[in-house]
Amino acid sequence: MGAEGEILAEARRRRTFAVISHPDAGKSTMTEALALHASAITQAGAVHGKAGRRGVTSDWMEMERARGISITSAALRFEYRGHVFNLVDTPGHADFSEDTYRVLAAVDCAVMLLDAAKGMEPQTMKLFEVCRHRRIPVITFVNKWDRPGREGLELLDEIEERTGLRPTPVTWPIGSADAFQGVVDRLDGRIVRYARTPGGATRALETELTPEQAARELGADWTRASEEADLLTAIGADHDQKRFEAHETTPVLFGAALSNFGVARLLDVLVALAPAPAPRPDVQGALRPLDAPFSGLVFKVQANMDRAHRDRIAFVRVCSGRFERGMVLTHAATGRPFATKYAQSVFGQERTTLDEAHPGDVVGLVNASALRPGDTLYEGTAVEFPPIPSFAPELFAVARVRDTGKAKQFRRGIDQLDAEGVVQVLRSDLRGDQAPVLAAVGAMQFEVVQHRLAAEFGAETVLDRLEYTLALRTDPQSAETLRRQRGAEVLVRSRDEALLAVFTDQWRMRSIQREHPGLTLDPIIAGAGQ
Ligand code: GDP
Repeated sequence: MGAEGEILAEARRRRTFAVISHPDAGKSTMTEALALHASAITQAGAVHGKAGRRGVTSDWMEMERARGISITSAALRFEYRGHVFNLVDTPGHADFSEDTYRVLAAVDCAVMLLDAAKGMEPQTMKLFEVCRHRRIPVITFVNKWDRPGREGLELLDEIEERTGLRPTPVTWPIGSADAFQGVVDRLDGRIVRYARTPGGATRALETELTPEQAARELGADWTRASEEADLLTAIGADHDQKRFEAHETTPVLFGAALSNFGVARLLDVLVALAPAPAPRPDVQGALRPLDAPFSGLVFKVQANMDRAHRDRIAFVRVCSGRFERGMVLTHAATGRPFATKYAQSVFGQERTTLDEAHPGDVVGLVNASALRPGDTLYEGTAVEFPPIPSFAPELFAVARVRDTGKAKQFRRGIDQLDAEGVVQVLRSDLRGDQAPVLAAVGAMQFEVVQHRLAAEFGAETVLDRLEYTLALRTDPQSAETLRRQRGAEVLVRSRDEALLAVFTDQWRMRSIQREHPGLTLDPIIAGAGQ
């Protein structure tokens, strides 16, 4: 096989995906279960990063440790049935930030993990919106089916109503809560019975039953499940690969990550249905072939908070070609060379040196202070991928320097953090240069800003939270009207000079809109031009 043929073969066996969910739906449990089913390159226990940490010294680590969260995790790589999976982390809980949305630029598929009792929750919905915008195919996993929850058909209705995707169940549950006995597989026709294994931390025991055995052994639960499965077929809720890839349908699986029920099937479904890496369009819309020379997209830049090691790790998704450690790449934004001597595969506290990578893989590059999220790196023929859009902020705070003697350092620091995409910086003539408004999707972004301004620029700051929760794009004409409204303000985003109207809440926004029907107010992500 030639080098190009090998790259295509490697790309075909890659599955690069993220789990999108609301906190507590079971993402960590699922991640660990997935890794246990496969031969994870990193030990599954490192996924949580909550226990057994090695001795760490930096303040940043202190922050992580105090909260018991993992800030450094980026991607977990594991192999399963001859395929290489890259599970890109979408940080949630207290470390929810703009990065959580940005990492979706690196994946080809998303697994939407729902709690059976709670259905579509707010954070799931926000992450789903990003998938919709990027047209990322979504596989739904209804988790915690071993606990009392909603009816299966009712959940399907909710998924369809909230996402607009047609649910096409791959598996249908037999019984629920304590009586969750197994599933009917609508793709391969198998009837699978689950048995709990002691400790739960290994594979679930699965036995295949004939319909006769199912009728005999599973009783009324089986009768009901098979009737419902027939109903699903009658209403045409069958999988259709084209519609799934076109972001019109979502295959649905039922299971319990904690007992490993349905986890192996999810991996099989990812192998069978999730798209492999495909040629990515550049800024002009031309596709960069997978076997073209190396190209990659920076989707996240992590600042190391340790004073002694003030480096940055840039996480790069390989889009084309083969990555080999040591190769010298070109940074599309500046045209400057970038040496990759220190390429790493990073997960949790573990860093291992990475020697080569293929389309779909994630590479961590250290000493990456020149790189920003959305940047392109390439070898050979030049290419630049479209930037990652800015997302709608929901938290706002005015930043001021504590010691006015440090005003210059403060300004420099704010500009730097804005350029790095750590936070969005908004300004207005009314507030002036020394009181920029910081806008974020997660509170941790503010903490990072304060920490870095103090540590790297010597500027201690005071942040005053503003009561706004909603931002929309507007135009100069509407801005005139909006400036006179109570509970609203118009600001300019430094990153792209976009005019943003911010509101205390959607009710205030709606009431202003009712009084002034002609106002331009567009959702931020949809207006991002991608
Ligand atoms: P995350 O916040 O989404 O990462 O959620 P975790 O994985 O930490 O899970 C939250 C809680 O739900 C934990 O107590 C888990 O043990 C529990 N949990 C996760 N999956 C299941 C499941 O399938 N069944 C049951 N009964 N509990 C689960």
